[in-house]
Amino acid sequence: MNGRIAYVAAKGEPFRIGEFPVVDPKAHQVRVRILAAGVCGSDVHQVKGAVPFPNRYPSAAGHEMIGEVDAIGSARPLDSLGRELHVGDKVVFAYFRPCGECPACAAGSPACPNRYAARGGLSVEDAPHFLGAFGDYYFILAEQWIYKVPEDLPVDIAAPANCAVSQALYALDRAGVKLGDSVVIQGLGGLGIYATAIARDMGAGRVIGVEAVKERLEIASRFGADDVIDVKAGTPEQRIAEVQRMTGGWGADVVIEMAGVPGVVPEGIQYLRPGGRYVMVGNIIAGASVEVVPETIVRRARELIGVVTYPKWVLPRAAGWLSRRRDAYPFGELVSETYSLERINDAFAPPDAANAKTRIGRVVIDMTR
Ligand SMILES: [Zn+2]
Ligand SMILES: [Zn+2]
Repeated sequence: MNGRIAYVAAKGEPFRIGEFPVVDPKAHQVRVRILAAGVCGSDVHQVKGAVPFPNRYPSAAGHEMIGEVDAIGSARPLDSLGRELHVGDKVVFAYFRPCGECPACAAGSPACPNRYAARGGLSVEDAPHFLGAFGDYYFILAEQWIYKVPEDLPVDIAAPANCAVSQALYALDRAGVKLGDSVVIQGLGGLGIYATAIARDMGAGRVIGVEAVKERLEIASRFGADDVIDVKAGTPEQRIAEVQRMTGGWGADVVIEMAGVPGVVPEGIQYLRPGGRYVMVGNIIAGASVEVVPETIVRRARELIGVVTYPKWVLPRAAGWLSRRRDAYPFGELVSETYSLERINDAFAPPDAANAKTRIGRVVIDMTR
């Protein structure tokens, strides 16, 4: 039996679709049939060649996905919450695997530098071949977290659970959001919209979105934003003053950077009240720099926090939240376009075109089409 998988043969090339043998899972592995996969901003960076793939060329791609259990290794009877796994179960899973044996893991940080090591040396030509989201199958390796999700959770709503939703949830957790906190979200793409709704559900007193794309500003209020600030309508100084005004003159308790643009960082720090927390999520390109005045952090005792991936508890909470709140927020509207696997290059290209910038939420590859 063969399965399809999209791969990138060399840096900067478009996707090709190959067929590879579908092998049996090893004892501690689970083979998943992918139902749908989301196109995340970091996938776009990787396909453009701005951020390296964790796998080797010719490389599989994609990490945001949902699937159903297709075959279970003999030593892997349970999911990561101790529930029995059965063929056909709908599942979400982490796209990385902390090593458990480095100083970051020992300290409880998810920033394990070895989190892709298990597949880092593998190309799509190496068994088990299916180590990316854009294909018919995916192999969950030993110790890689996998969780059953409710059978009736719609696939297109749940596809972003293991990246965008989990990342938004963990960023707000790291910010220590408390009941009544004012929270500013910089960037209302997929991540930012999820963060808006989760901040609302975590008890934020006021949620403020800052964004340049009109369509995204319009949808934010339906995901719980109290106010939005249109980046195109004013200067950084005006936006800082507006956040001050919206927060009773103090500045925000929490600011979350999800824009992926280095230039927003110094401005976002100025949104904070004294002692406020600034959490950075979106900027993942090496060497992209910006000037920050340390005095604005030191004298106002502000905290700067970088966040990458998430710990074990986050993903089942993210999936549970999507399931419970799927009638509270119009999640379906976040899926702006859906493509078949054969049309994956249309889903990605051209990443800099006007349509990519005005996309409201996620582009989904539907493997069942
Ligand atoms: Zn992602
Ligand atoms: Zn580690």
